[in-house]
Amino acid sequence: MTDSILVINCGSSSIKFALYPVSNPKQPLITALAERLGEQAPLLKIRGELNHTVSLPANADHQAALECFTEHSQPWLEQLQGIGHRVVHGGERYHASTLLDETSIQALDDLSALAPLHNPVNVLGIRLTQTIWPQLPQVAVFDTAFHQTIPAAAYLYGVPYDWYEQDGVRRYGFHGTSYRFVTTEAARRLNKAQSDCYFVIAHLGNGCSACAVAHGESVDSSMGLTPLEGLVMGTRSGDIDPGLIEHMQRSRGYSLADSMDALNRQSGLKGLSKLSNDMRTLLQAEAEGDLAAKRAIDVFCFRVARQFAALSASLPTIDAVIFTGGIGENSAMIRQRIIAAWKFIQFRLDDTLNQQHGDDMGRISQRGAPLVMVVATDEEAMIAQDTLELIQHD
Ligand code: ADP
Repeated sequence: MTDSILVINCGSSSIKFALYPVSNPKQPLITALAERLGEQAPLLKIRGELNHTVSLPANADHQAALECFTEHSQPWLEQLQGIGHRVVHGGERYHASTLLDETSIQALDDLSALAPLHNPVNVLGIRLTQTIWPQLPQVAVFDTAFHQTIPAAAYLYGVPYDWYEQDGVRRYGFHGTSYRFVTTEAARRLNKAQSDCYFVIAHLGNGCSACAVAHGESVDSSMGLTPLEGLVMGTRSGDIDPGLIEHMQRSRGYSLADSMDALNRQSGLKGLSKLSNDMRTLLQAEAEGDLAAKRAIDVFCFRVARQFAALSASLPTIDAVIFTGGIGENSAMIRQRIIAAWKFIQFRLDDTLNQQHGDDMGRISQRGAPLVMVVATDEEAMIAQDTLELIQHD
């Protein structure tokens, strides 16, 4: 067996695993997904060198899932060298990935106030793996870190300044690991130094955001204090007038918790379409004449175009508009509609290249027209590479 690095992405009811050989931290040996944890029928699906689907006992928790994964992947874990964790919120403290010790784990726990849905489970994942492999180095890779270069004019809200000073209220930005990967990859394909690259990038998956990159660094993001701000997403509303929370309290008697639940879980594509949070389902329904699905897709695409235009305020030029994430990488139709909705710039997509998700370098625009690209993201590989780098320099 080979030396390996384990990447763990711990969510509220799921854990994603990816195991990489140290010799090639780009191509995983094994990937796994434990889902529906804490529910009636939790499952662990392992793929790659192993191909197993295991039913976990009802209500199995994160610990049970981790133990089940370890048991089934045992031979591949014998020469584990380190573990990399996705951590959603690094606050202003973390500008880069970090080796974990007791002090930093405590700091991540303290950041839970800023990301109550995410950081507590991320810390749980770290604690659980620490129990199983107490001797191994562990690394945290933050969704927020790449955005720590955003200037104050873009990260401050127009609210009392002491909210920022005392409570950390500012825009942080998320999906940073994805943007870092895509920026590096796009610069490589364009054969340019990252310091010469100006991009607007949309990461469109279940969660959606967009980012402006200048000289290889994030200078603005559509996401804010939490991952709720910005684009319309699968079930999240994106930008709203905060006054609507008071309105819903008056008109329907909604509590704060009711409104937050609706904005996080019942809104976005799901809420607008009354059908699904899944873009494939909506595109299919629209093709069959479902006007509610069309409405949801139209809002989704317009919001991305508007966000692209807003982000371009931070850039002196745009070398490429880049699409990534499940929707961005796979839907020619959505890319085409977003580009059509951004009327100010005369983009011209090449329909054939768009249908095939790009040429060798990911280009989907016509030659001579402003460049539009598709670049598949790989957050797990980025986490594996950061982990390897930090443990090798330890
Ligand atoms: P996550 O944010 O959970 O990592 P993904 O990046 O995998 O999610 O994106 C999931 C979204 O991508 C879903 O809305 C799904 O419908 C959409 N998607 C995946 N493939 C396609 C496709 N061929 N056409 C349109 N949408 C797609």
